[in-house]
Amino acid sequence: AVEVHGAHKWYGANRVLDGVDLTVQPGQVAVILGPSGSGKSTLLRAINHLEQLDVGHVSVNGELIGVRRHGERLKELGERAILAQRAGIGFVFQGFNLFPHLTALENIAAAPVATGRATREEARATARDLLERVGLADKADAYPRQLSGGQQQRVAIARALAQKPGLILFDEPTSALDPELVGEVLAVIKDLAGSGTTLIVVTHEIGFAREVADLVVFLDGGRILEQGSPAEVLDNPQHPRTREFLSRVL
Ligand code: ATP
Ligand code: MG
Repeated sequence: AVEVHGAHKWYGANRVLDGVDLTVQPGQVAVILGPSGSGKSTLLRAINHLEQLDVGHVSVNGELIGVRRHGERLKELGERAILAQRAGIGFVFQGFNLFPHLTALENIAAAPVATGRATREEARATARDLLERVGLADKADAYPRQLSGGQQQRVAIARALAQKPGLILFDEPTSALDPELVGEVLAVIKDLAGSGTTLIVVTHEIGFAREVADLVVFLDGGRILEQGSPAEVLDNPQHPRTREFLSRVL
């Protein structure tokens, strides 16, 4: 399970996470909703320790992320240990962040080779399988600039999968896409749901949340105001802030 315990984060005087507790069971899909500035990206980035929490901690399958216990306190791990943990956690951003000078296939194969997890040949074979899985078998040799936004984002997802992560974090993976390209990316994410990989997805795509999420979490002002099944949170929200938010995005 992914467990966030008592997470607090300040940027100067700005309280960005204000006591977040969240558990996502293995293989489940959690969708995080909330207004701009509510702390969604910060929470996601804290899960793989791209942000350090001021108070609280994150564990994945019982293993603390980014820190270790040091008596009563938590102490930051060394950079190599953090990178090793992060290699097991996929991250797909809003922008596609592909290496512009590498082909689709090379983008996917790069990290497993660099981290010594696969030989070049193995990594390229896996990359071909993954391109097929995201519907881009014919784009192996294309460079990012030759791909549409939706195709680039599917390559980015394939690249995350190449590390065989148990957990993938998606931060608004479709918000930079033209509307007609959103569906193809959501379809790829939908395919991953139920495959055993835990997915945490920040998105405003309510239809996707309704269809795919096991858990919907509404974040506002750095707090979880409400969480539950899609039927609970989306169709029968209890908190006025949730209702107001949903009326704006639906
Ligand atoms: P959006 O929907 O616009 O992406 P969000 O819910 O992802 O918003 P965050 O990016 O987590 O929100 O930001 C939460 C708050 O923290 C915002 O007020 C933001 O300005 C602030 N913030 C985020 N990153 C930093 C930073 N590196 N330094 C200072 N303040 C930051
Ligand atoms: Mg954000």
